[in-house]
Amino acid sequence: MSELQRQPITQRVSCIVCPMSCVGEVEIAEGQVVRMVGFSCERGRAYAESEVTAPKRVLTTTVKLNGGTLRLLPVVSRQPLPKDKIAACVRCLASVEVEAPVKEGDIISGDLLGLGVDIVASRDVESVSR
Ligand code: SF4
Repeated sequence: MSELQRQPITQRVSCIVCPMSCVGEVEIAEGQVVRMVGFSCERGRAYAESEVTAPKRVLTTTVKLNGGTLRLLPVVSRQPLPKDKIAACVRCLASVEVEAPVKEGDIISGDLLGLGVDIVASRDVESVSR
């Protein structure tokens, strides 16, 4: 570990867990949280720690849909994914094609990139009647 990595750094974090929108600071040294201020509850402290050590995001995007009343199917990750894997997930989903009809919650891509998170349809789409 370099001298720079050993230096404590302070990061400002806005908690998005509830509408109180607390804003606090988290100090990290050698990859560990050493100080945290400004968060009103345990859920917020857990969020802030995760945000500075292993940030995650819910992925929402679309995949190609064949034979449906829409050309693109909106999809969402069932759980948040590591933020640094989001671009790779989007690239992977760019090659996915789905056949209509689709129901909200249908698994479109299971265990995407081996991350343990399913990508599911976020709405129903009917087939085009022929
Ligand atoms: S720290 Fe707690 S009270 Fe504050 S926004 Fe986060 S969850 Fe809500």
